[in-house]
Amino acid sequence: MAKIHTKFHKLMLIGILLIATIFTTAPQIGHAASTTETYKVNASSLNVRTGPSTSYKVSFALKKNSTVTKISTSGNWFKIKSGSKTGYASSKYLTKVKATTVATASTPKVTTYFYVTEPTGLTIRSGASVSYKSLGTIPAEKKVQILSENKNGWIRITYNKKTGWINANSKYGFKSTKSFSYKIEEDDGTTYYLIMQGNSLNVRKLPNTAAPSLGKIGNGYTAKILRSASNGWVEIQYSNSVKGWVSTNTELTVVTDSIGQVGDDLEGSLTGLTFVIDAGHGNGDSGASGRDLKGNLVYEKTLNLKAAQAIQTAIQNIGGKVLMTRTNDTFLTLDQRAKYAIGKNANAFISVHHNSASSSAVGYETYYSNKTSSKAFAKAVHEGVIEAVQEEYPQVKDRQLKAMDYYVVRYNSVYASLLELGFVSNPTELSRLNTNKFRNTVAEGVVNGLLEFYGR
Ligand SMILES: [Zn+2]
Repeated sequence: MAKIHTKFHKLMLIGILLIATIFTTAPQIGHAASTTETYKVNASSLNVRTGPSTSYKVSFALKKNSTVTKISTSGNWFKIKSGSKTGYASSKYLTKVKATTVATASTPKVTTYFYVTEPTGLTIRSGASVSYKSLGTIPAEKKVQILSENKNGWIRITYNKKTGWINANSKYGFKSTKSFSYKIEEDDGTTYYLIMQGNSLNVRKLPNTAAPSLGKIGNGYTAKILRSASNGWVEIQYSNSVKGWVSTNTELTVVTDSIGQVGDDLEGSLTGLTFVIDAGHGNGDSGASGRDLKGNLVYEKTLNLKAAQAIQTAIQNIGGKVLMTRTNDTFLTLDQRAKYAIGKNANAFISVHHNSASSSAVGYETYYSNKTSSKAFAKAVHEGVIEAVQEEYPQVKDRQLKAMDYYVVRYNSVYASLLELGFVSNPTELSRLNTNKFRNTVAEGVVNGLLEFYGR
C-alpha cells in the first residue's frame, strides 16, 4: 500500500508584524501661509471643556507636551483643536510653539501612511535631510502615519514615541491612504511552492493590493514560498535581488509542498493514468456560499477550483495526467462535465464540491451512482481522503460513502465520484476548508485513494 508521507505540522501565528498605530492626537500642523497657531500643553494634564470656563463639562484631557491648534480666543480660554476633537482649555497651560519648526510643512488632506520597505529600515532624523542627527530607525515593513510633508520629499512621522523626519522616496517604501496590517505564519518546516495556473498576477511590495506592484507573474510560474501571511499572501524571491508578495486568494494560484520531484517524498506512481478533475459550478453559478469566521463571504465555485487544482498538482506530482473541466471562473453544463471524459482516454472522473446546510453541519462525504460500476473507485477515494483529513484534523466528521444519482457521476463514461469536502454554511468549517493546508491534505488523500485503487 503506497502512502504519501505528509509533513504538515500545526501552523502557529507569531507576533504581529505590522502593528496598527493609531495617532488619535496627531498634531495638526499649519501651512506656512496660514495664521494657524500651534500650542503645547505645559501642565501634567490639561482638561479640555465644552465651553470657556471651569463650569463647563470636561470632554477630554491632554497630556503634557501634546500639541494643539488654536481656533479662537475667549478671555483667558482658547478654543483648541486636538486631532479631530475640539474644545476649550485655559490659556495659561498652553505655550506657543515657534512657527519656524513647521514653516515648510503642510497637513495631509487625508490620513496617509508610509510603509517602509527598505530591508535595512529607515533612519528617523531631527530635520528633513541627512545632515540632521539620527533619532532611531523604523524597521522594514512597519507603517507610520504621515504628519506632514516637506517639499524635498521628506515626511514628518512619529515612531516609538519619537517624532522626526524620514526620506519618503519610493525606493524606501510607499505611501497609501489605506491602513492595513498582517501577521506572518510560523514556518512549519515544510517547503511550500507557489504555482501559477492562470494568466497574470501582480507581485507586490507588501501583502496587500494597496502596495505597489513590482511586476507580474504568468501561467506556469513556480517559486518557493519564503514566508506566508495569515491573509493568504505569500512572499517569493521575485528576482535575484527583489522579494515580493503574491495573493493566493485567487483561482490563479496553487500552493503545494511538492513540485513534481517524482519519488522525492512519495511512494507509488500514477504514470500512465489520466484523471478528469471537475471543479463544480463556475461563473454565474456560484454554488453554495457562506461566511467564514472573519465574516468574509466565500463562494463554493472558488473553493472547488482551488481544491481541484490542489488535486491536479498532487496527481501530476506522481506522474498522473490530469484534465481539468475548468481552470478558471467559467461555466459548464452538467452534461458537458459528465461527457468530458469521452474520447480522452481518461481512467476516472472526480467532481469537487462543497456542501451547505445548517451552520452546525460538519464533515466530508463521497458520492457515486449505484447505476454505474464506480462504487469501489469512490470507496477508495473516500477512504484515502477521510484518512488523510482525519489524521490532520481529527474533528472532521466522516459522513461516509453514499449512493446518489448526481448527473455528473450518473452519466459519466468512466469511474466517477463526487466529493463534498465540507460545509461552507459552517463558519468554523469554512475557515478550515479555505486553507491551502486543508486542500493539500485532501489532495494527498485523493492520491492515496487512487494509488490504492489502481494497486500502485
Ligand atoms: Zn456544489
